[in-house]
Amino acid sequence: MEVFYKDLIYNKCNMGEVTNKDVYKNLIDLFKRHPEFEEKKGTGIQKIFIHQNKLNKKAREIYIERIDGSVVVISWRTCLSGLGKSNKALTLQAMRSAIHNQITDFKKAQKQVCNNCPSICDLEVDHTGSVVFSDMADLFLKNKILPSDFSYDKFGRVSFKDVDKELQESWEAYHKFYATLQLLCKNCHIKKTRGY
Ligand SMILES: [Zn+2]
Repeated sequence: MEVFYKDLIYNKCNMGEVTNKDVYKNLIDLFKRHPEFEEKKGTGIQKIFIHQNKLNKKAREIYIERIDGSVVVISWRTCLSGLGKSNKALTLQAMRSAIHNQITDFKKAQKQVCNNCPSICDLEVDHTGSVVFSDMADLFLKNKILPSDFSYDKFGRVSFKDVDKELQESWEAYHKFYATLQLLCKNCHIKKTRGY
């Protein structure tokens, strides 16, 4: 886990803006582990930059540029330790990882155009219909005992351990049955998520 991200940040990134889409995605997944992710994210992440640490020239720092133009540093080590993250937050992340395949399968099977505008660029899968992801997850978790320990998949995402396989499989089935998905372009997705 640590090796994966250290390699990513030190060997797979150049200084300056992160332009590689896969690296960008991996970093976003990493950021979600930060105990203050919501504050770091602010109005939304627009760009990610890698800079040299001013005091220790061998060290690299990651900066987030938000949609409103403000910039904030984010410690990848704090992301890794995930200190302060509740079991609930980690469970939700593992649940998102568990349905990742369903999401990508859905995306592949669709006509590649936004469901809300004519855009064909930057398409993302959105949970539509009456139940949004977080509500669905809450309903599923009701009266269930949350896992106390988690594992990480090969992409560095939080995932369920083998002992929680039953929970994972029942969640995957639950999601497949109840989720209504649609493709939205990035702009429409942001607008919808923020409610305007
Ligand atoms: Zn759109």
